[in-house]
Amino acid sequence: PHGRVFNFSAGPACLPVDVLEQAQADMLNWRGSGMSVMEMSHRGKEFQSIIDAAEADLRALLAIPDNYTVLFMQARGGASTQFSAIPLNLAAEGDVVDYIVTGSWSKKAAGEAKKYAKVDIVATGDNKSVPDPSTWNLSADATYVHYCDNETIQGVEFKAAPAVGDKVLVADMSSNFCSKPVDVSKCGIIYAGAQKNIGPAGVTIVIVRNDLIGNARPITPVMLDYAVQAGDKSMYNTPPCYSIYMCGLVFAKMRAEGGLDAVLAANEKKANVLYDAIAASNGFYNSPVDPAVRSLMNVPFTIPSNADLEKEFIAAAAKRGMIQLKGHRSVGGMRASIYNSMPLEGVQQLADFMKEFAAQHA
Ligand code: PMP
Repeated sequence: PHGRVFNFSAGPACLPVDVLEQAQADMLNWRGSGMSVMEMSHRGKEFQSIIDAAEADLRALLAIPDNYTVLFMQARGGASTQFSAIPLNLAAEGDVVDYIVTGSWSKKAAGEAKKYAKVDIVATGDNKSVPDPSTWNLSADATYVHYCDNETIQGVEFKAAPAVGDKVLVADMSSNFCSKPVDVSKCGIIYAGAQKNIGPAGVTIVIVRNDLIGNARPITPVMLDYAVQAGDKSMYNTPPCYSIYMCGLVFAKMRAEGGLDAVLAANEKKANVLYDAIAASNGFYNSPVDPAVRSLMNVPFTIPSNADLEKEFIAAAAKRGMIQLKGHRSVGGMRASIYNSMPLEGVQQLADFMKEFAAQHA
């Protein structure tokens, strides 16, 4: 319907059709306010009710404990901005901070933190697996330990929060935020850009334990200071109002449809369809990732016998309305990003196409 494609992009990604329709219905006149959400003052009671509802729904979804603050931060710079905000807010100059590197995004986060603190790379993965925790060299005096819960490019996803003892754990959940229940209390900070699982680009969500707020170093840009953002309830300046509104619609939908347990069950089902299709291909397709940490969100795969066929696969799939299946430019191959809003039908259609393509070219 609506001539829509199945969009396997890593982000910005597809959104639920009913959410887009709700936004369409609200477009010219949001609930009798006489204006669209884009035109409202962020200080007015209408927008306040939107951001309050979005926060309440997110708190319910993730069972966020009361001693955590939810910040809706400007995504100018995106989740990437948190790569700098985290060391600036948590670490003093010269402090040791630990980074677990399991792919491109955790590597980038560590690279940025080096400007502000003494970064210790405590483990480096092979881009296909999570190194055995017994080999991690956690620093005794680290101010925090940063990791990326789902490496969007490599498709490597932690199945449980890493055990870091009493250290503050910082989680980049940009590409699997709200894709499964998580125990927020295991982390000091969880951060995520919205544009994959929960809404359009424009807002970055930061969930931060209250005792970690208020320690930013003096040179921290005001926009990155969690104490300023928390003090003004994400309204120090104009927030990304429309993006927050869209996330709010998605949160409300997820709650109404059974919360994150239901989301996880649907995501597991979808991912299994693709991993099973790869496994059933007799080696025509290959998933490079260790089965123990295969992502439910980003499924990279290759055609090992003939890389030229990969181009052909991507083009032929696009002709059938399955777009954005090209792997990240740094790794090649294919990648199907199947975030929350990708329907099972889209994944099934892709699996059927994979089978057909393999039969034609094996
Ligand atoms: N972390 C991860 C895991 C990501 O996938 C991305 C975006 N692809 C980022 C951080 C950076 O997000 P942004 O583009 O919002 O800066």
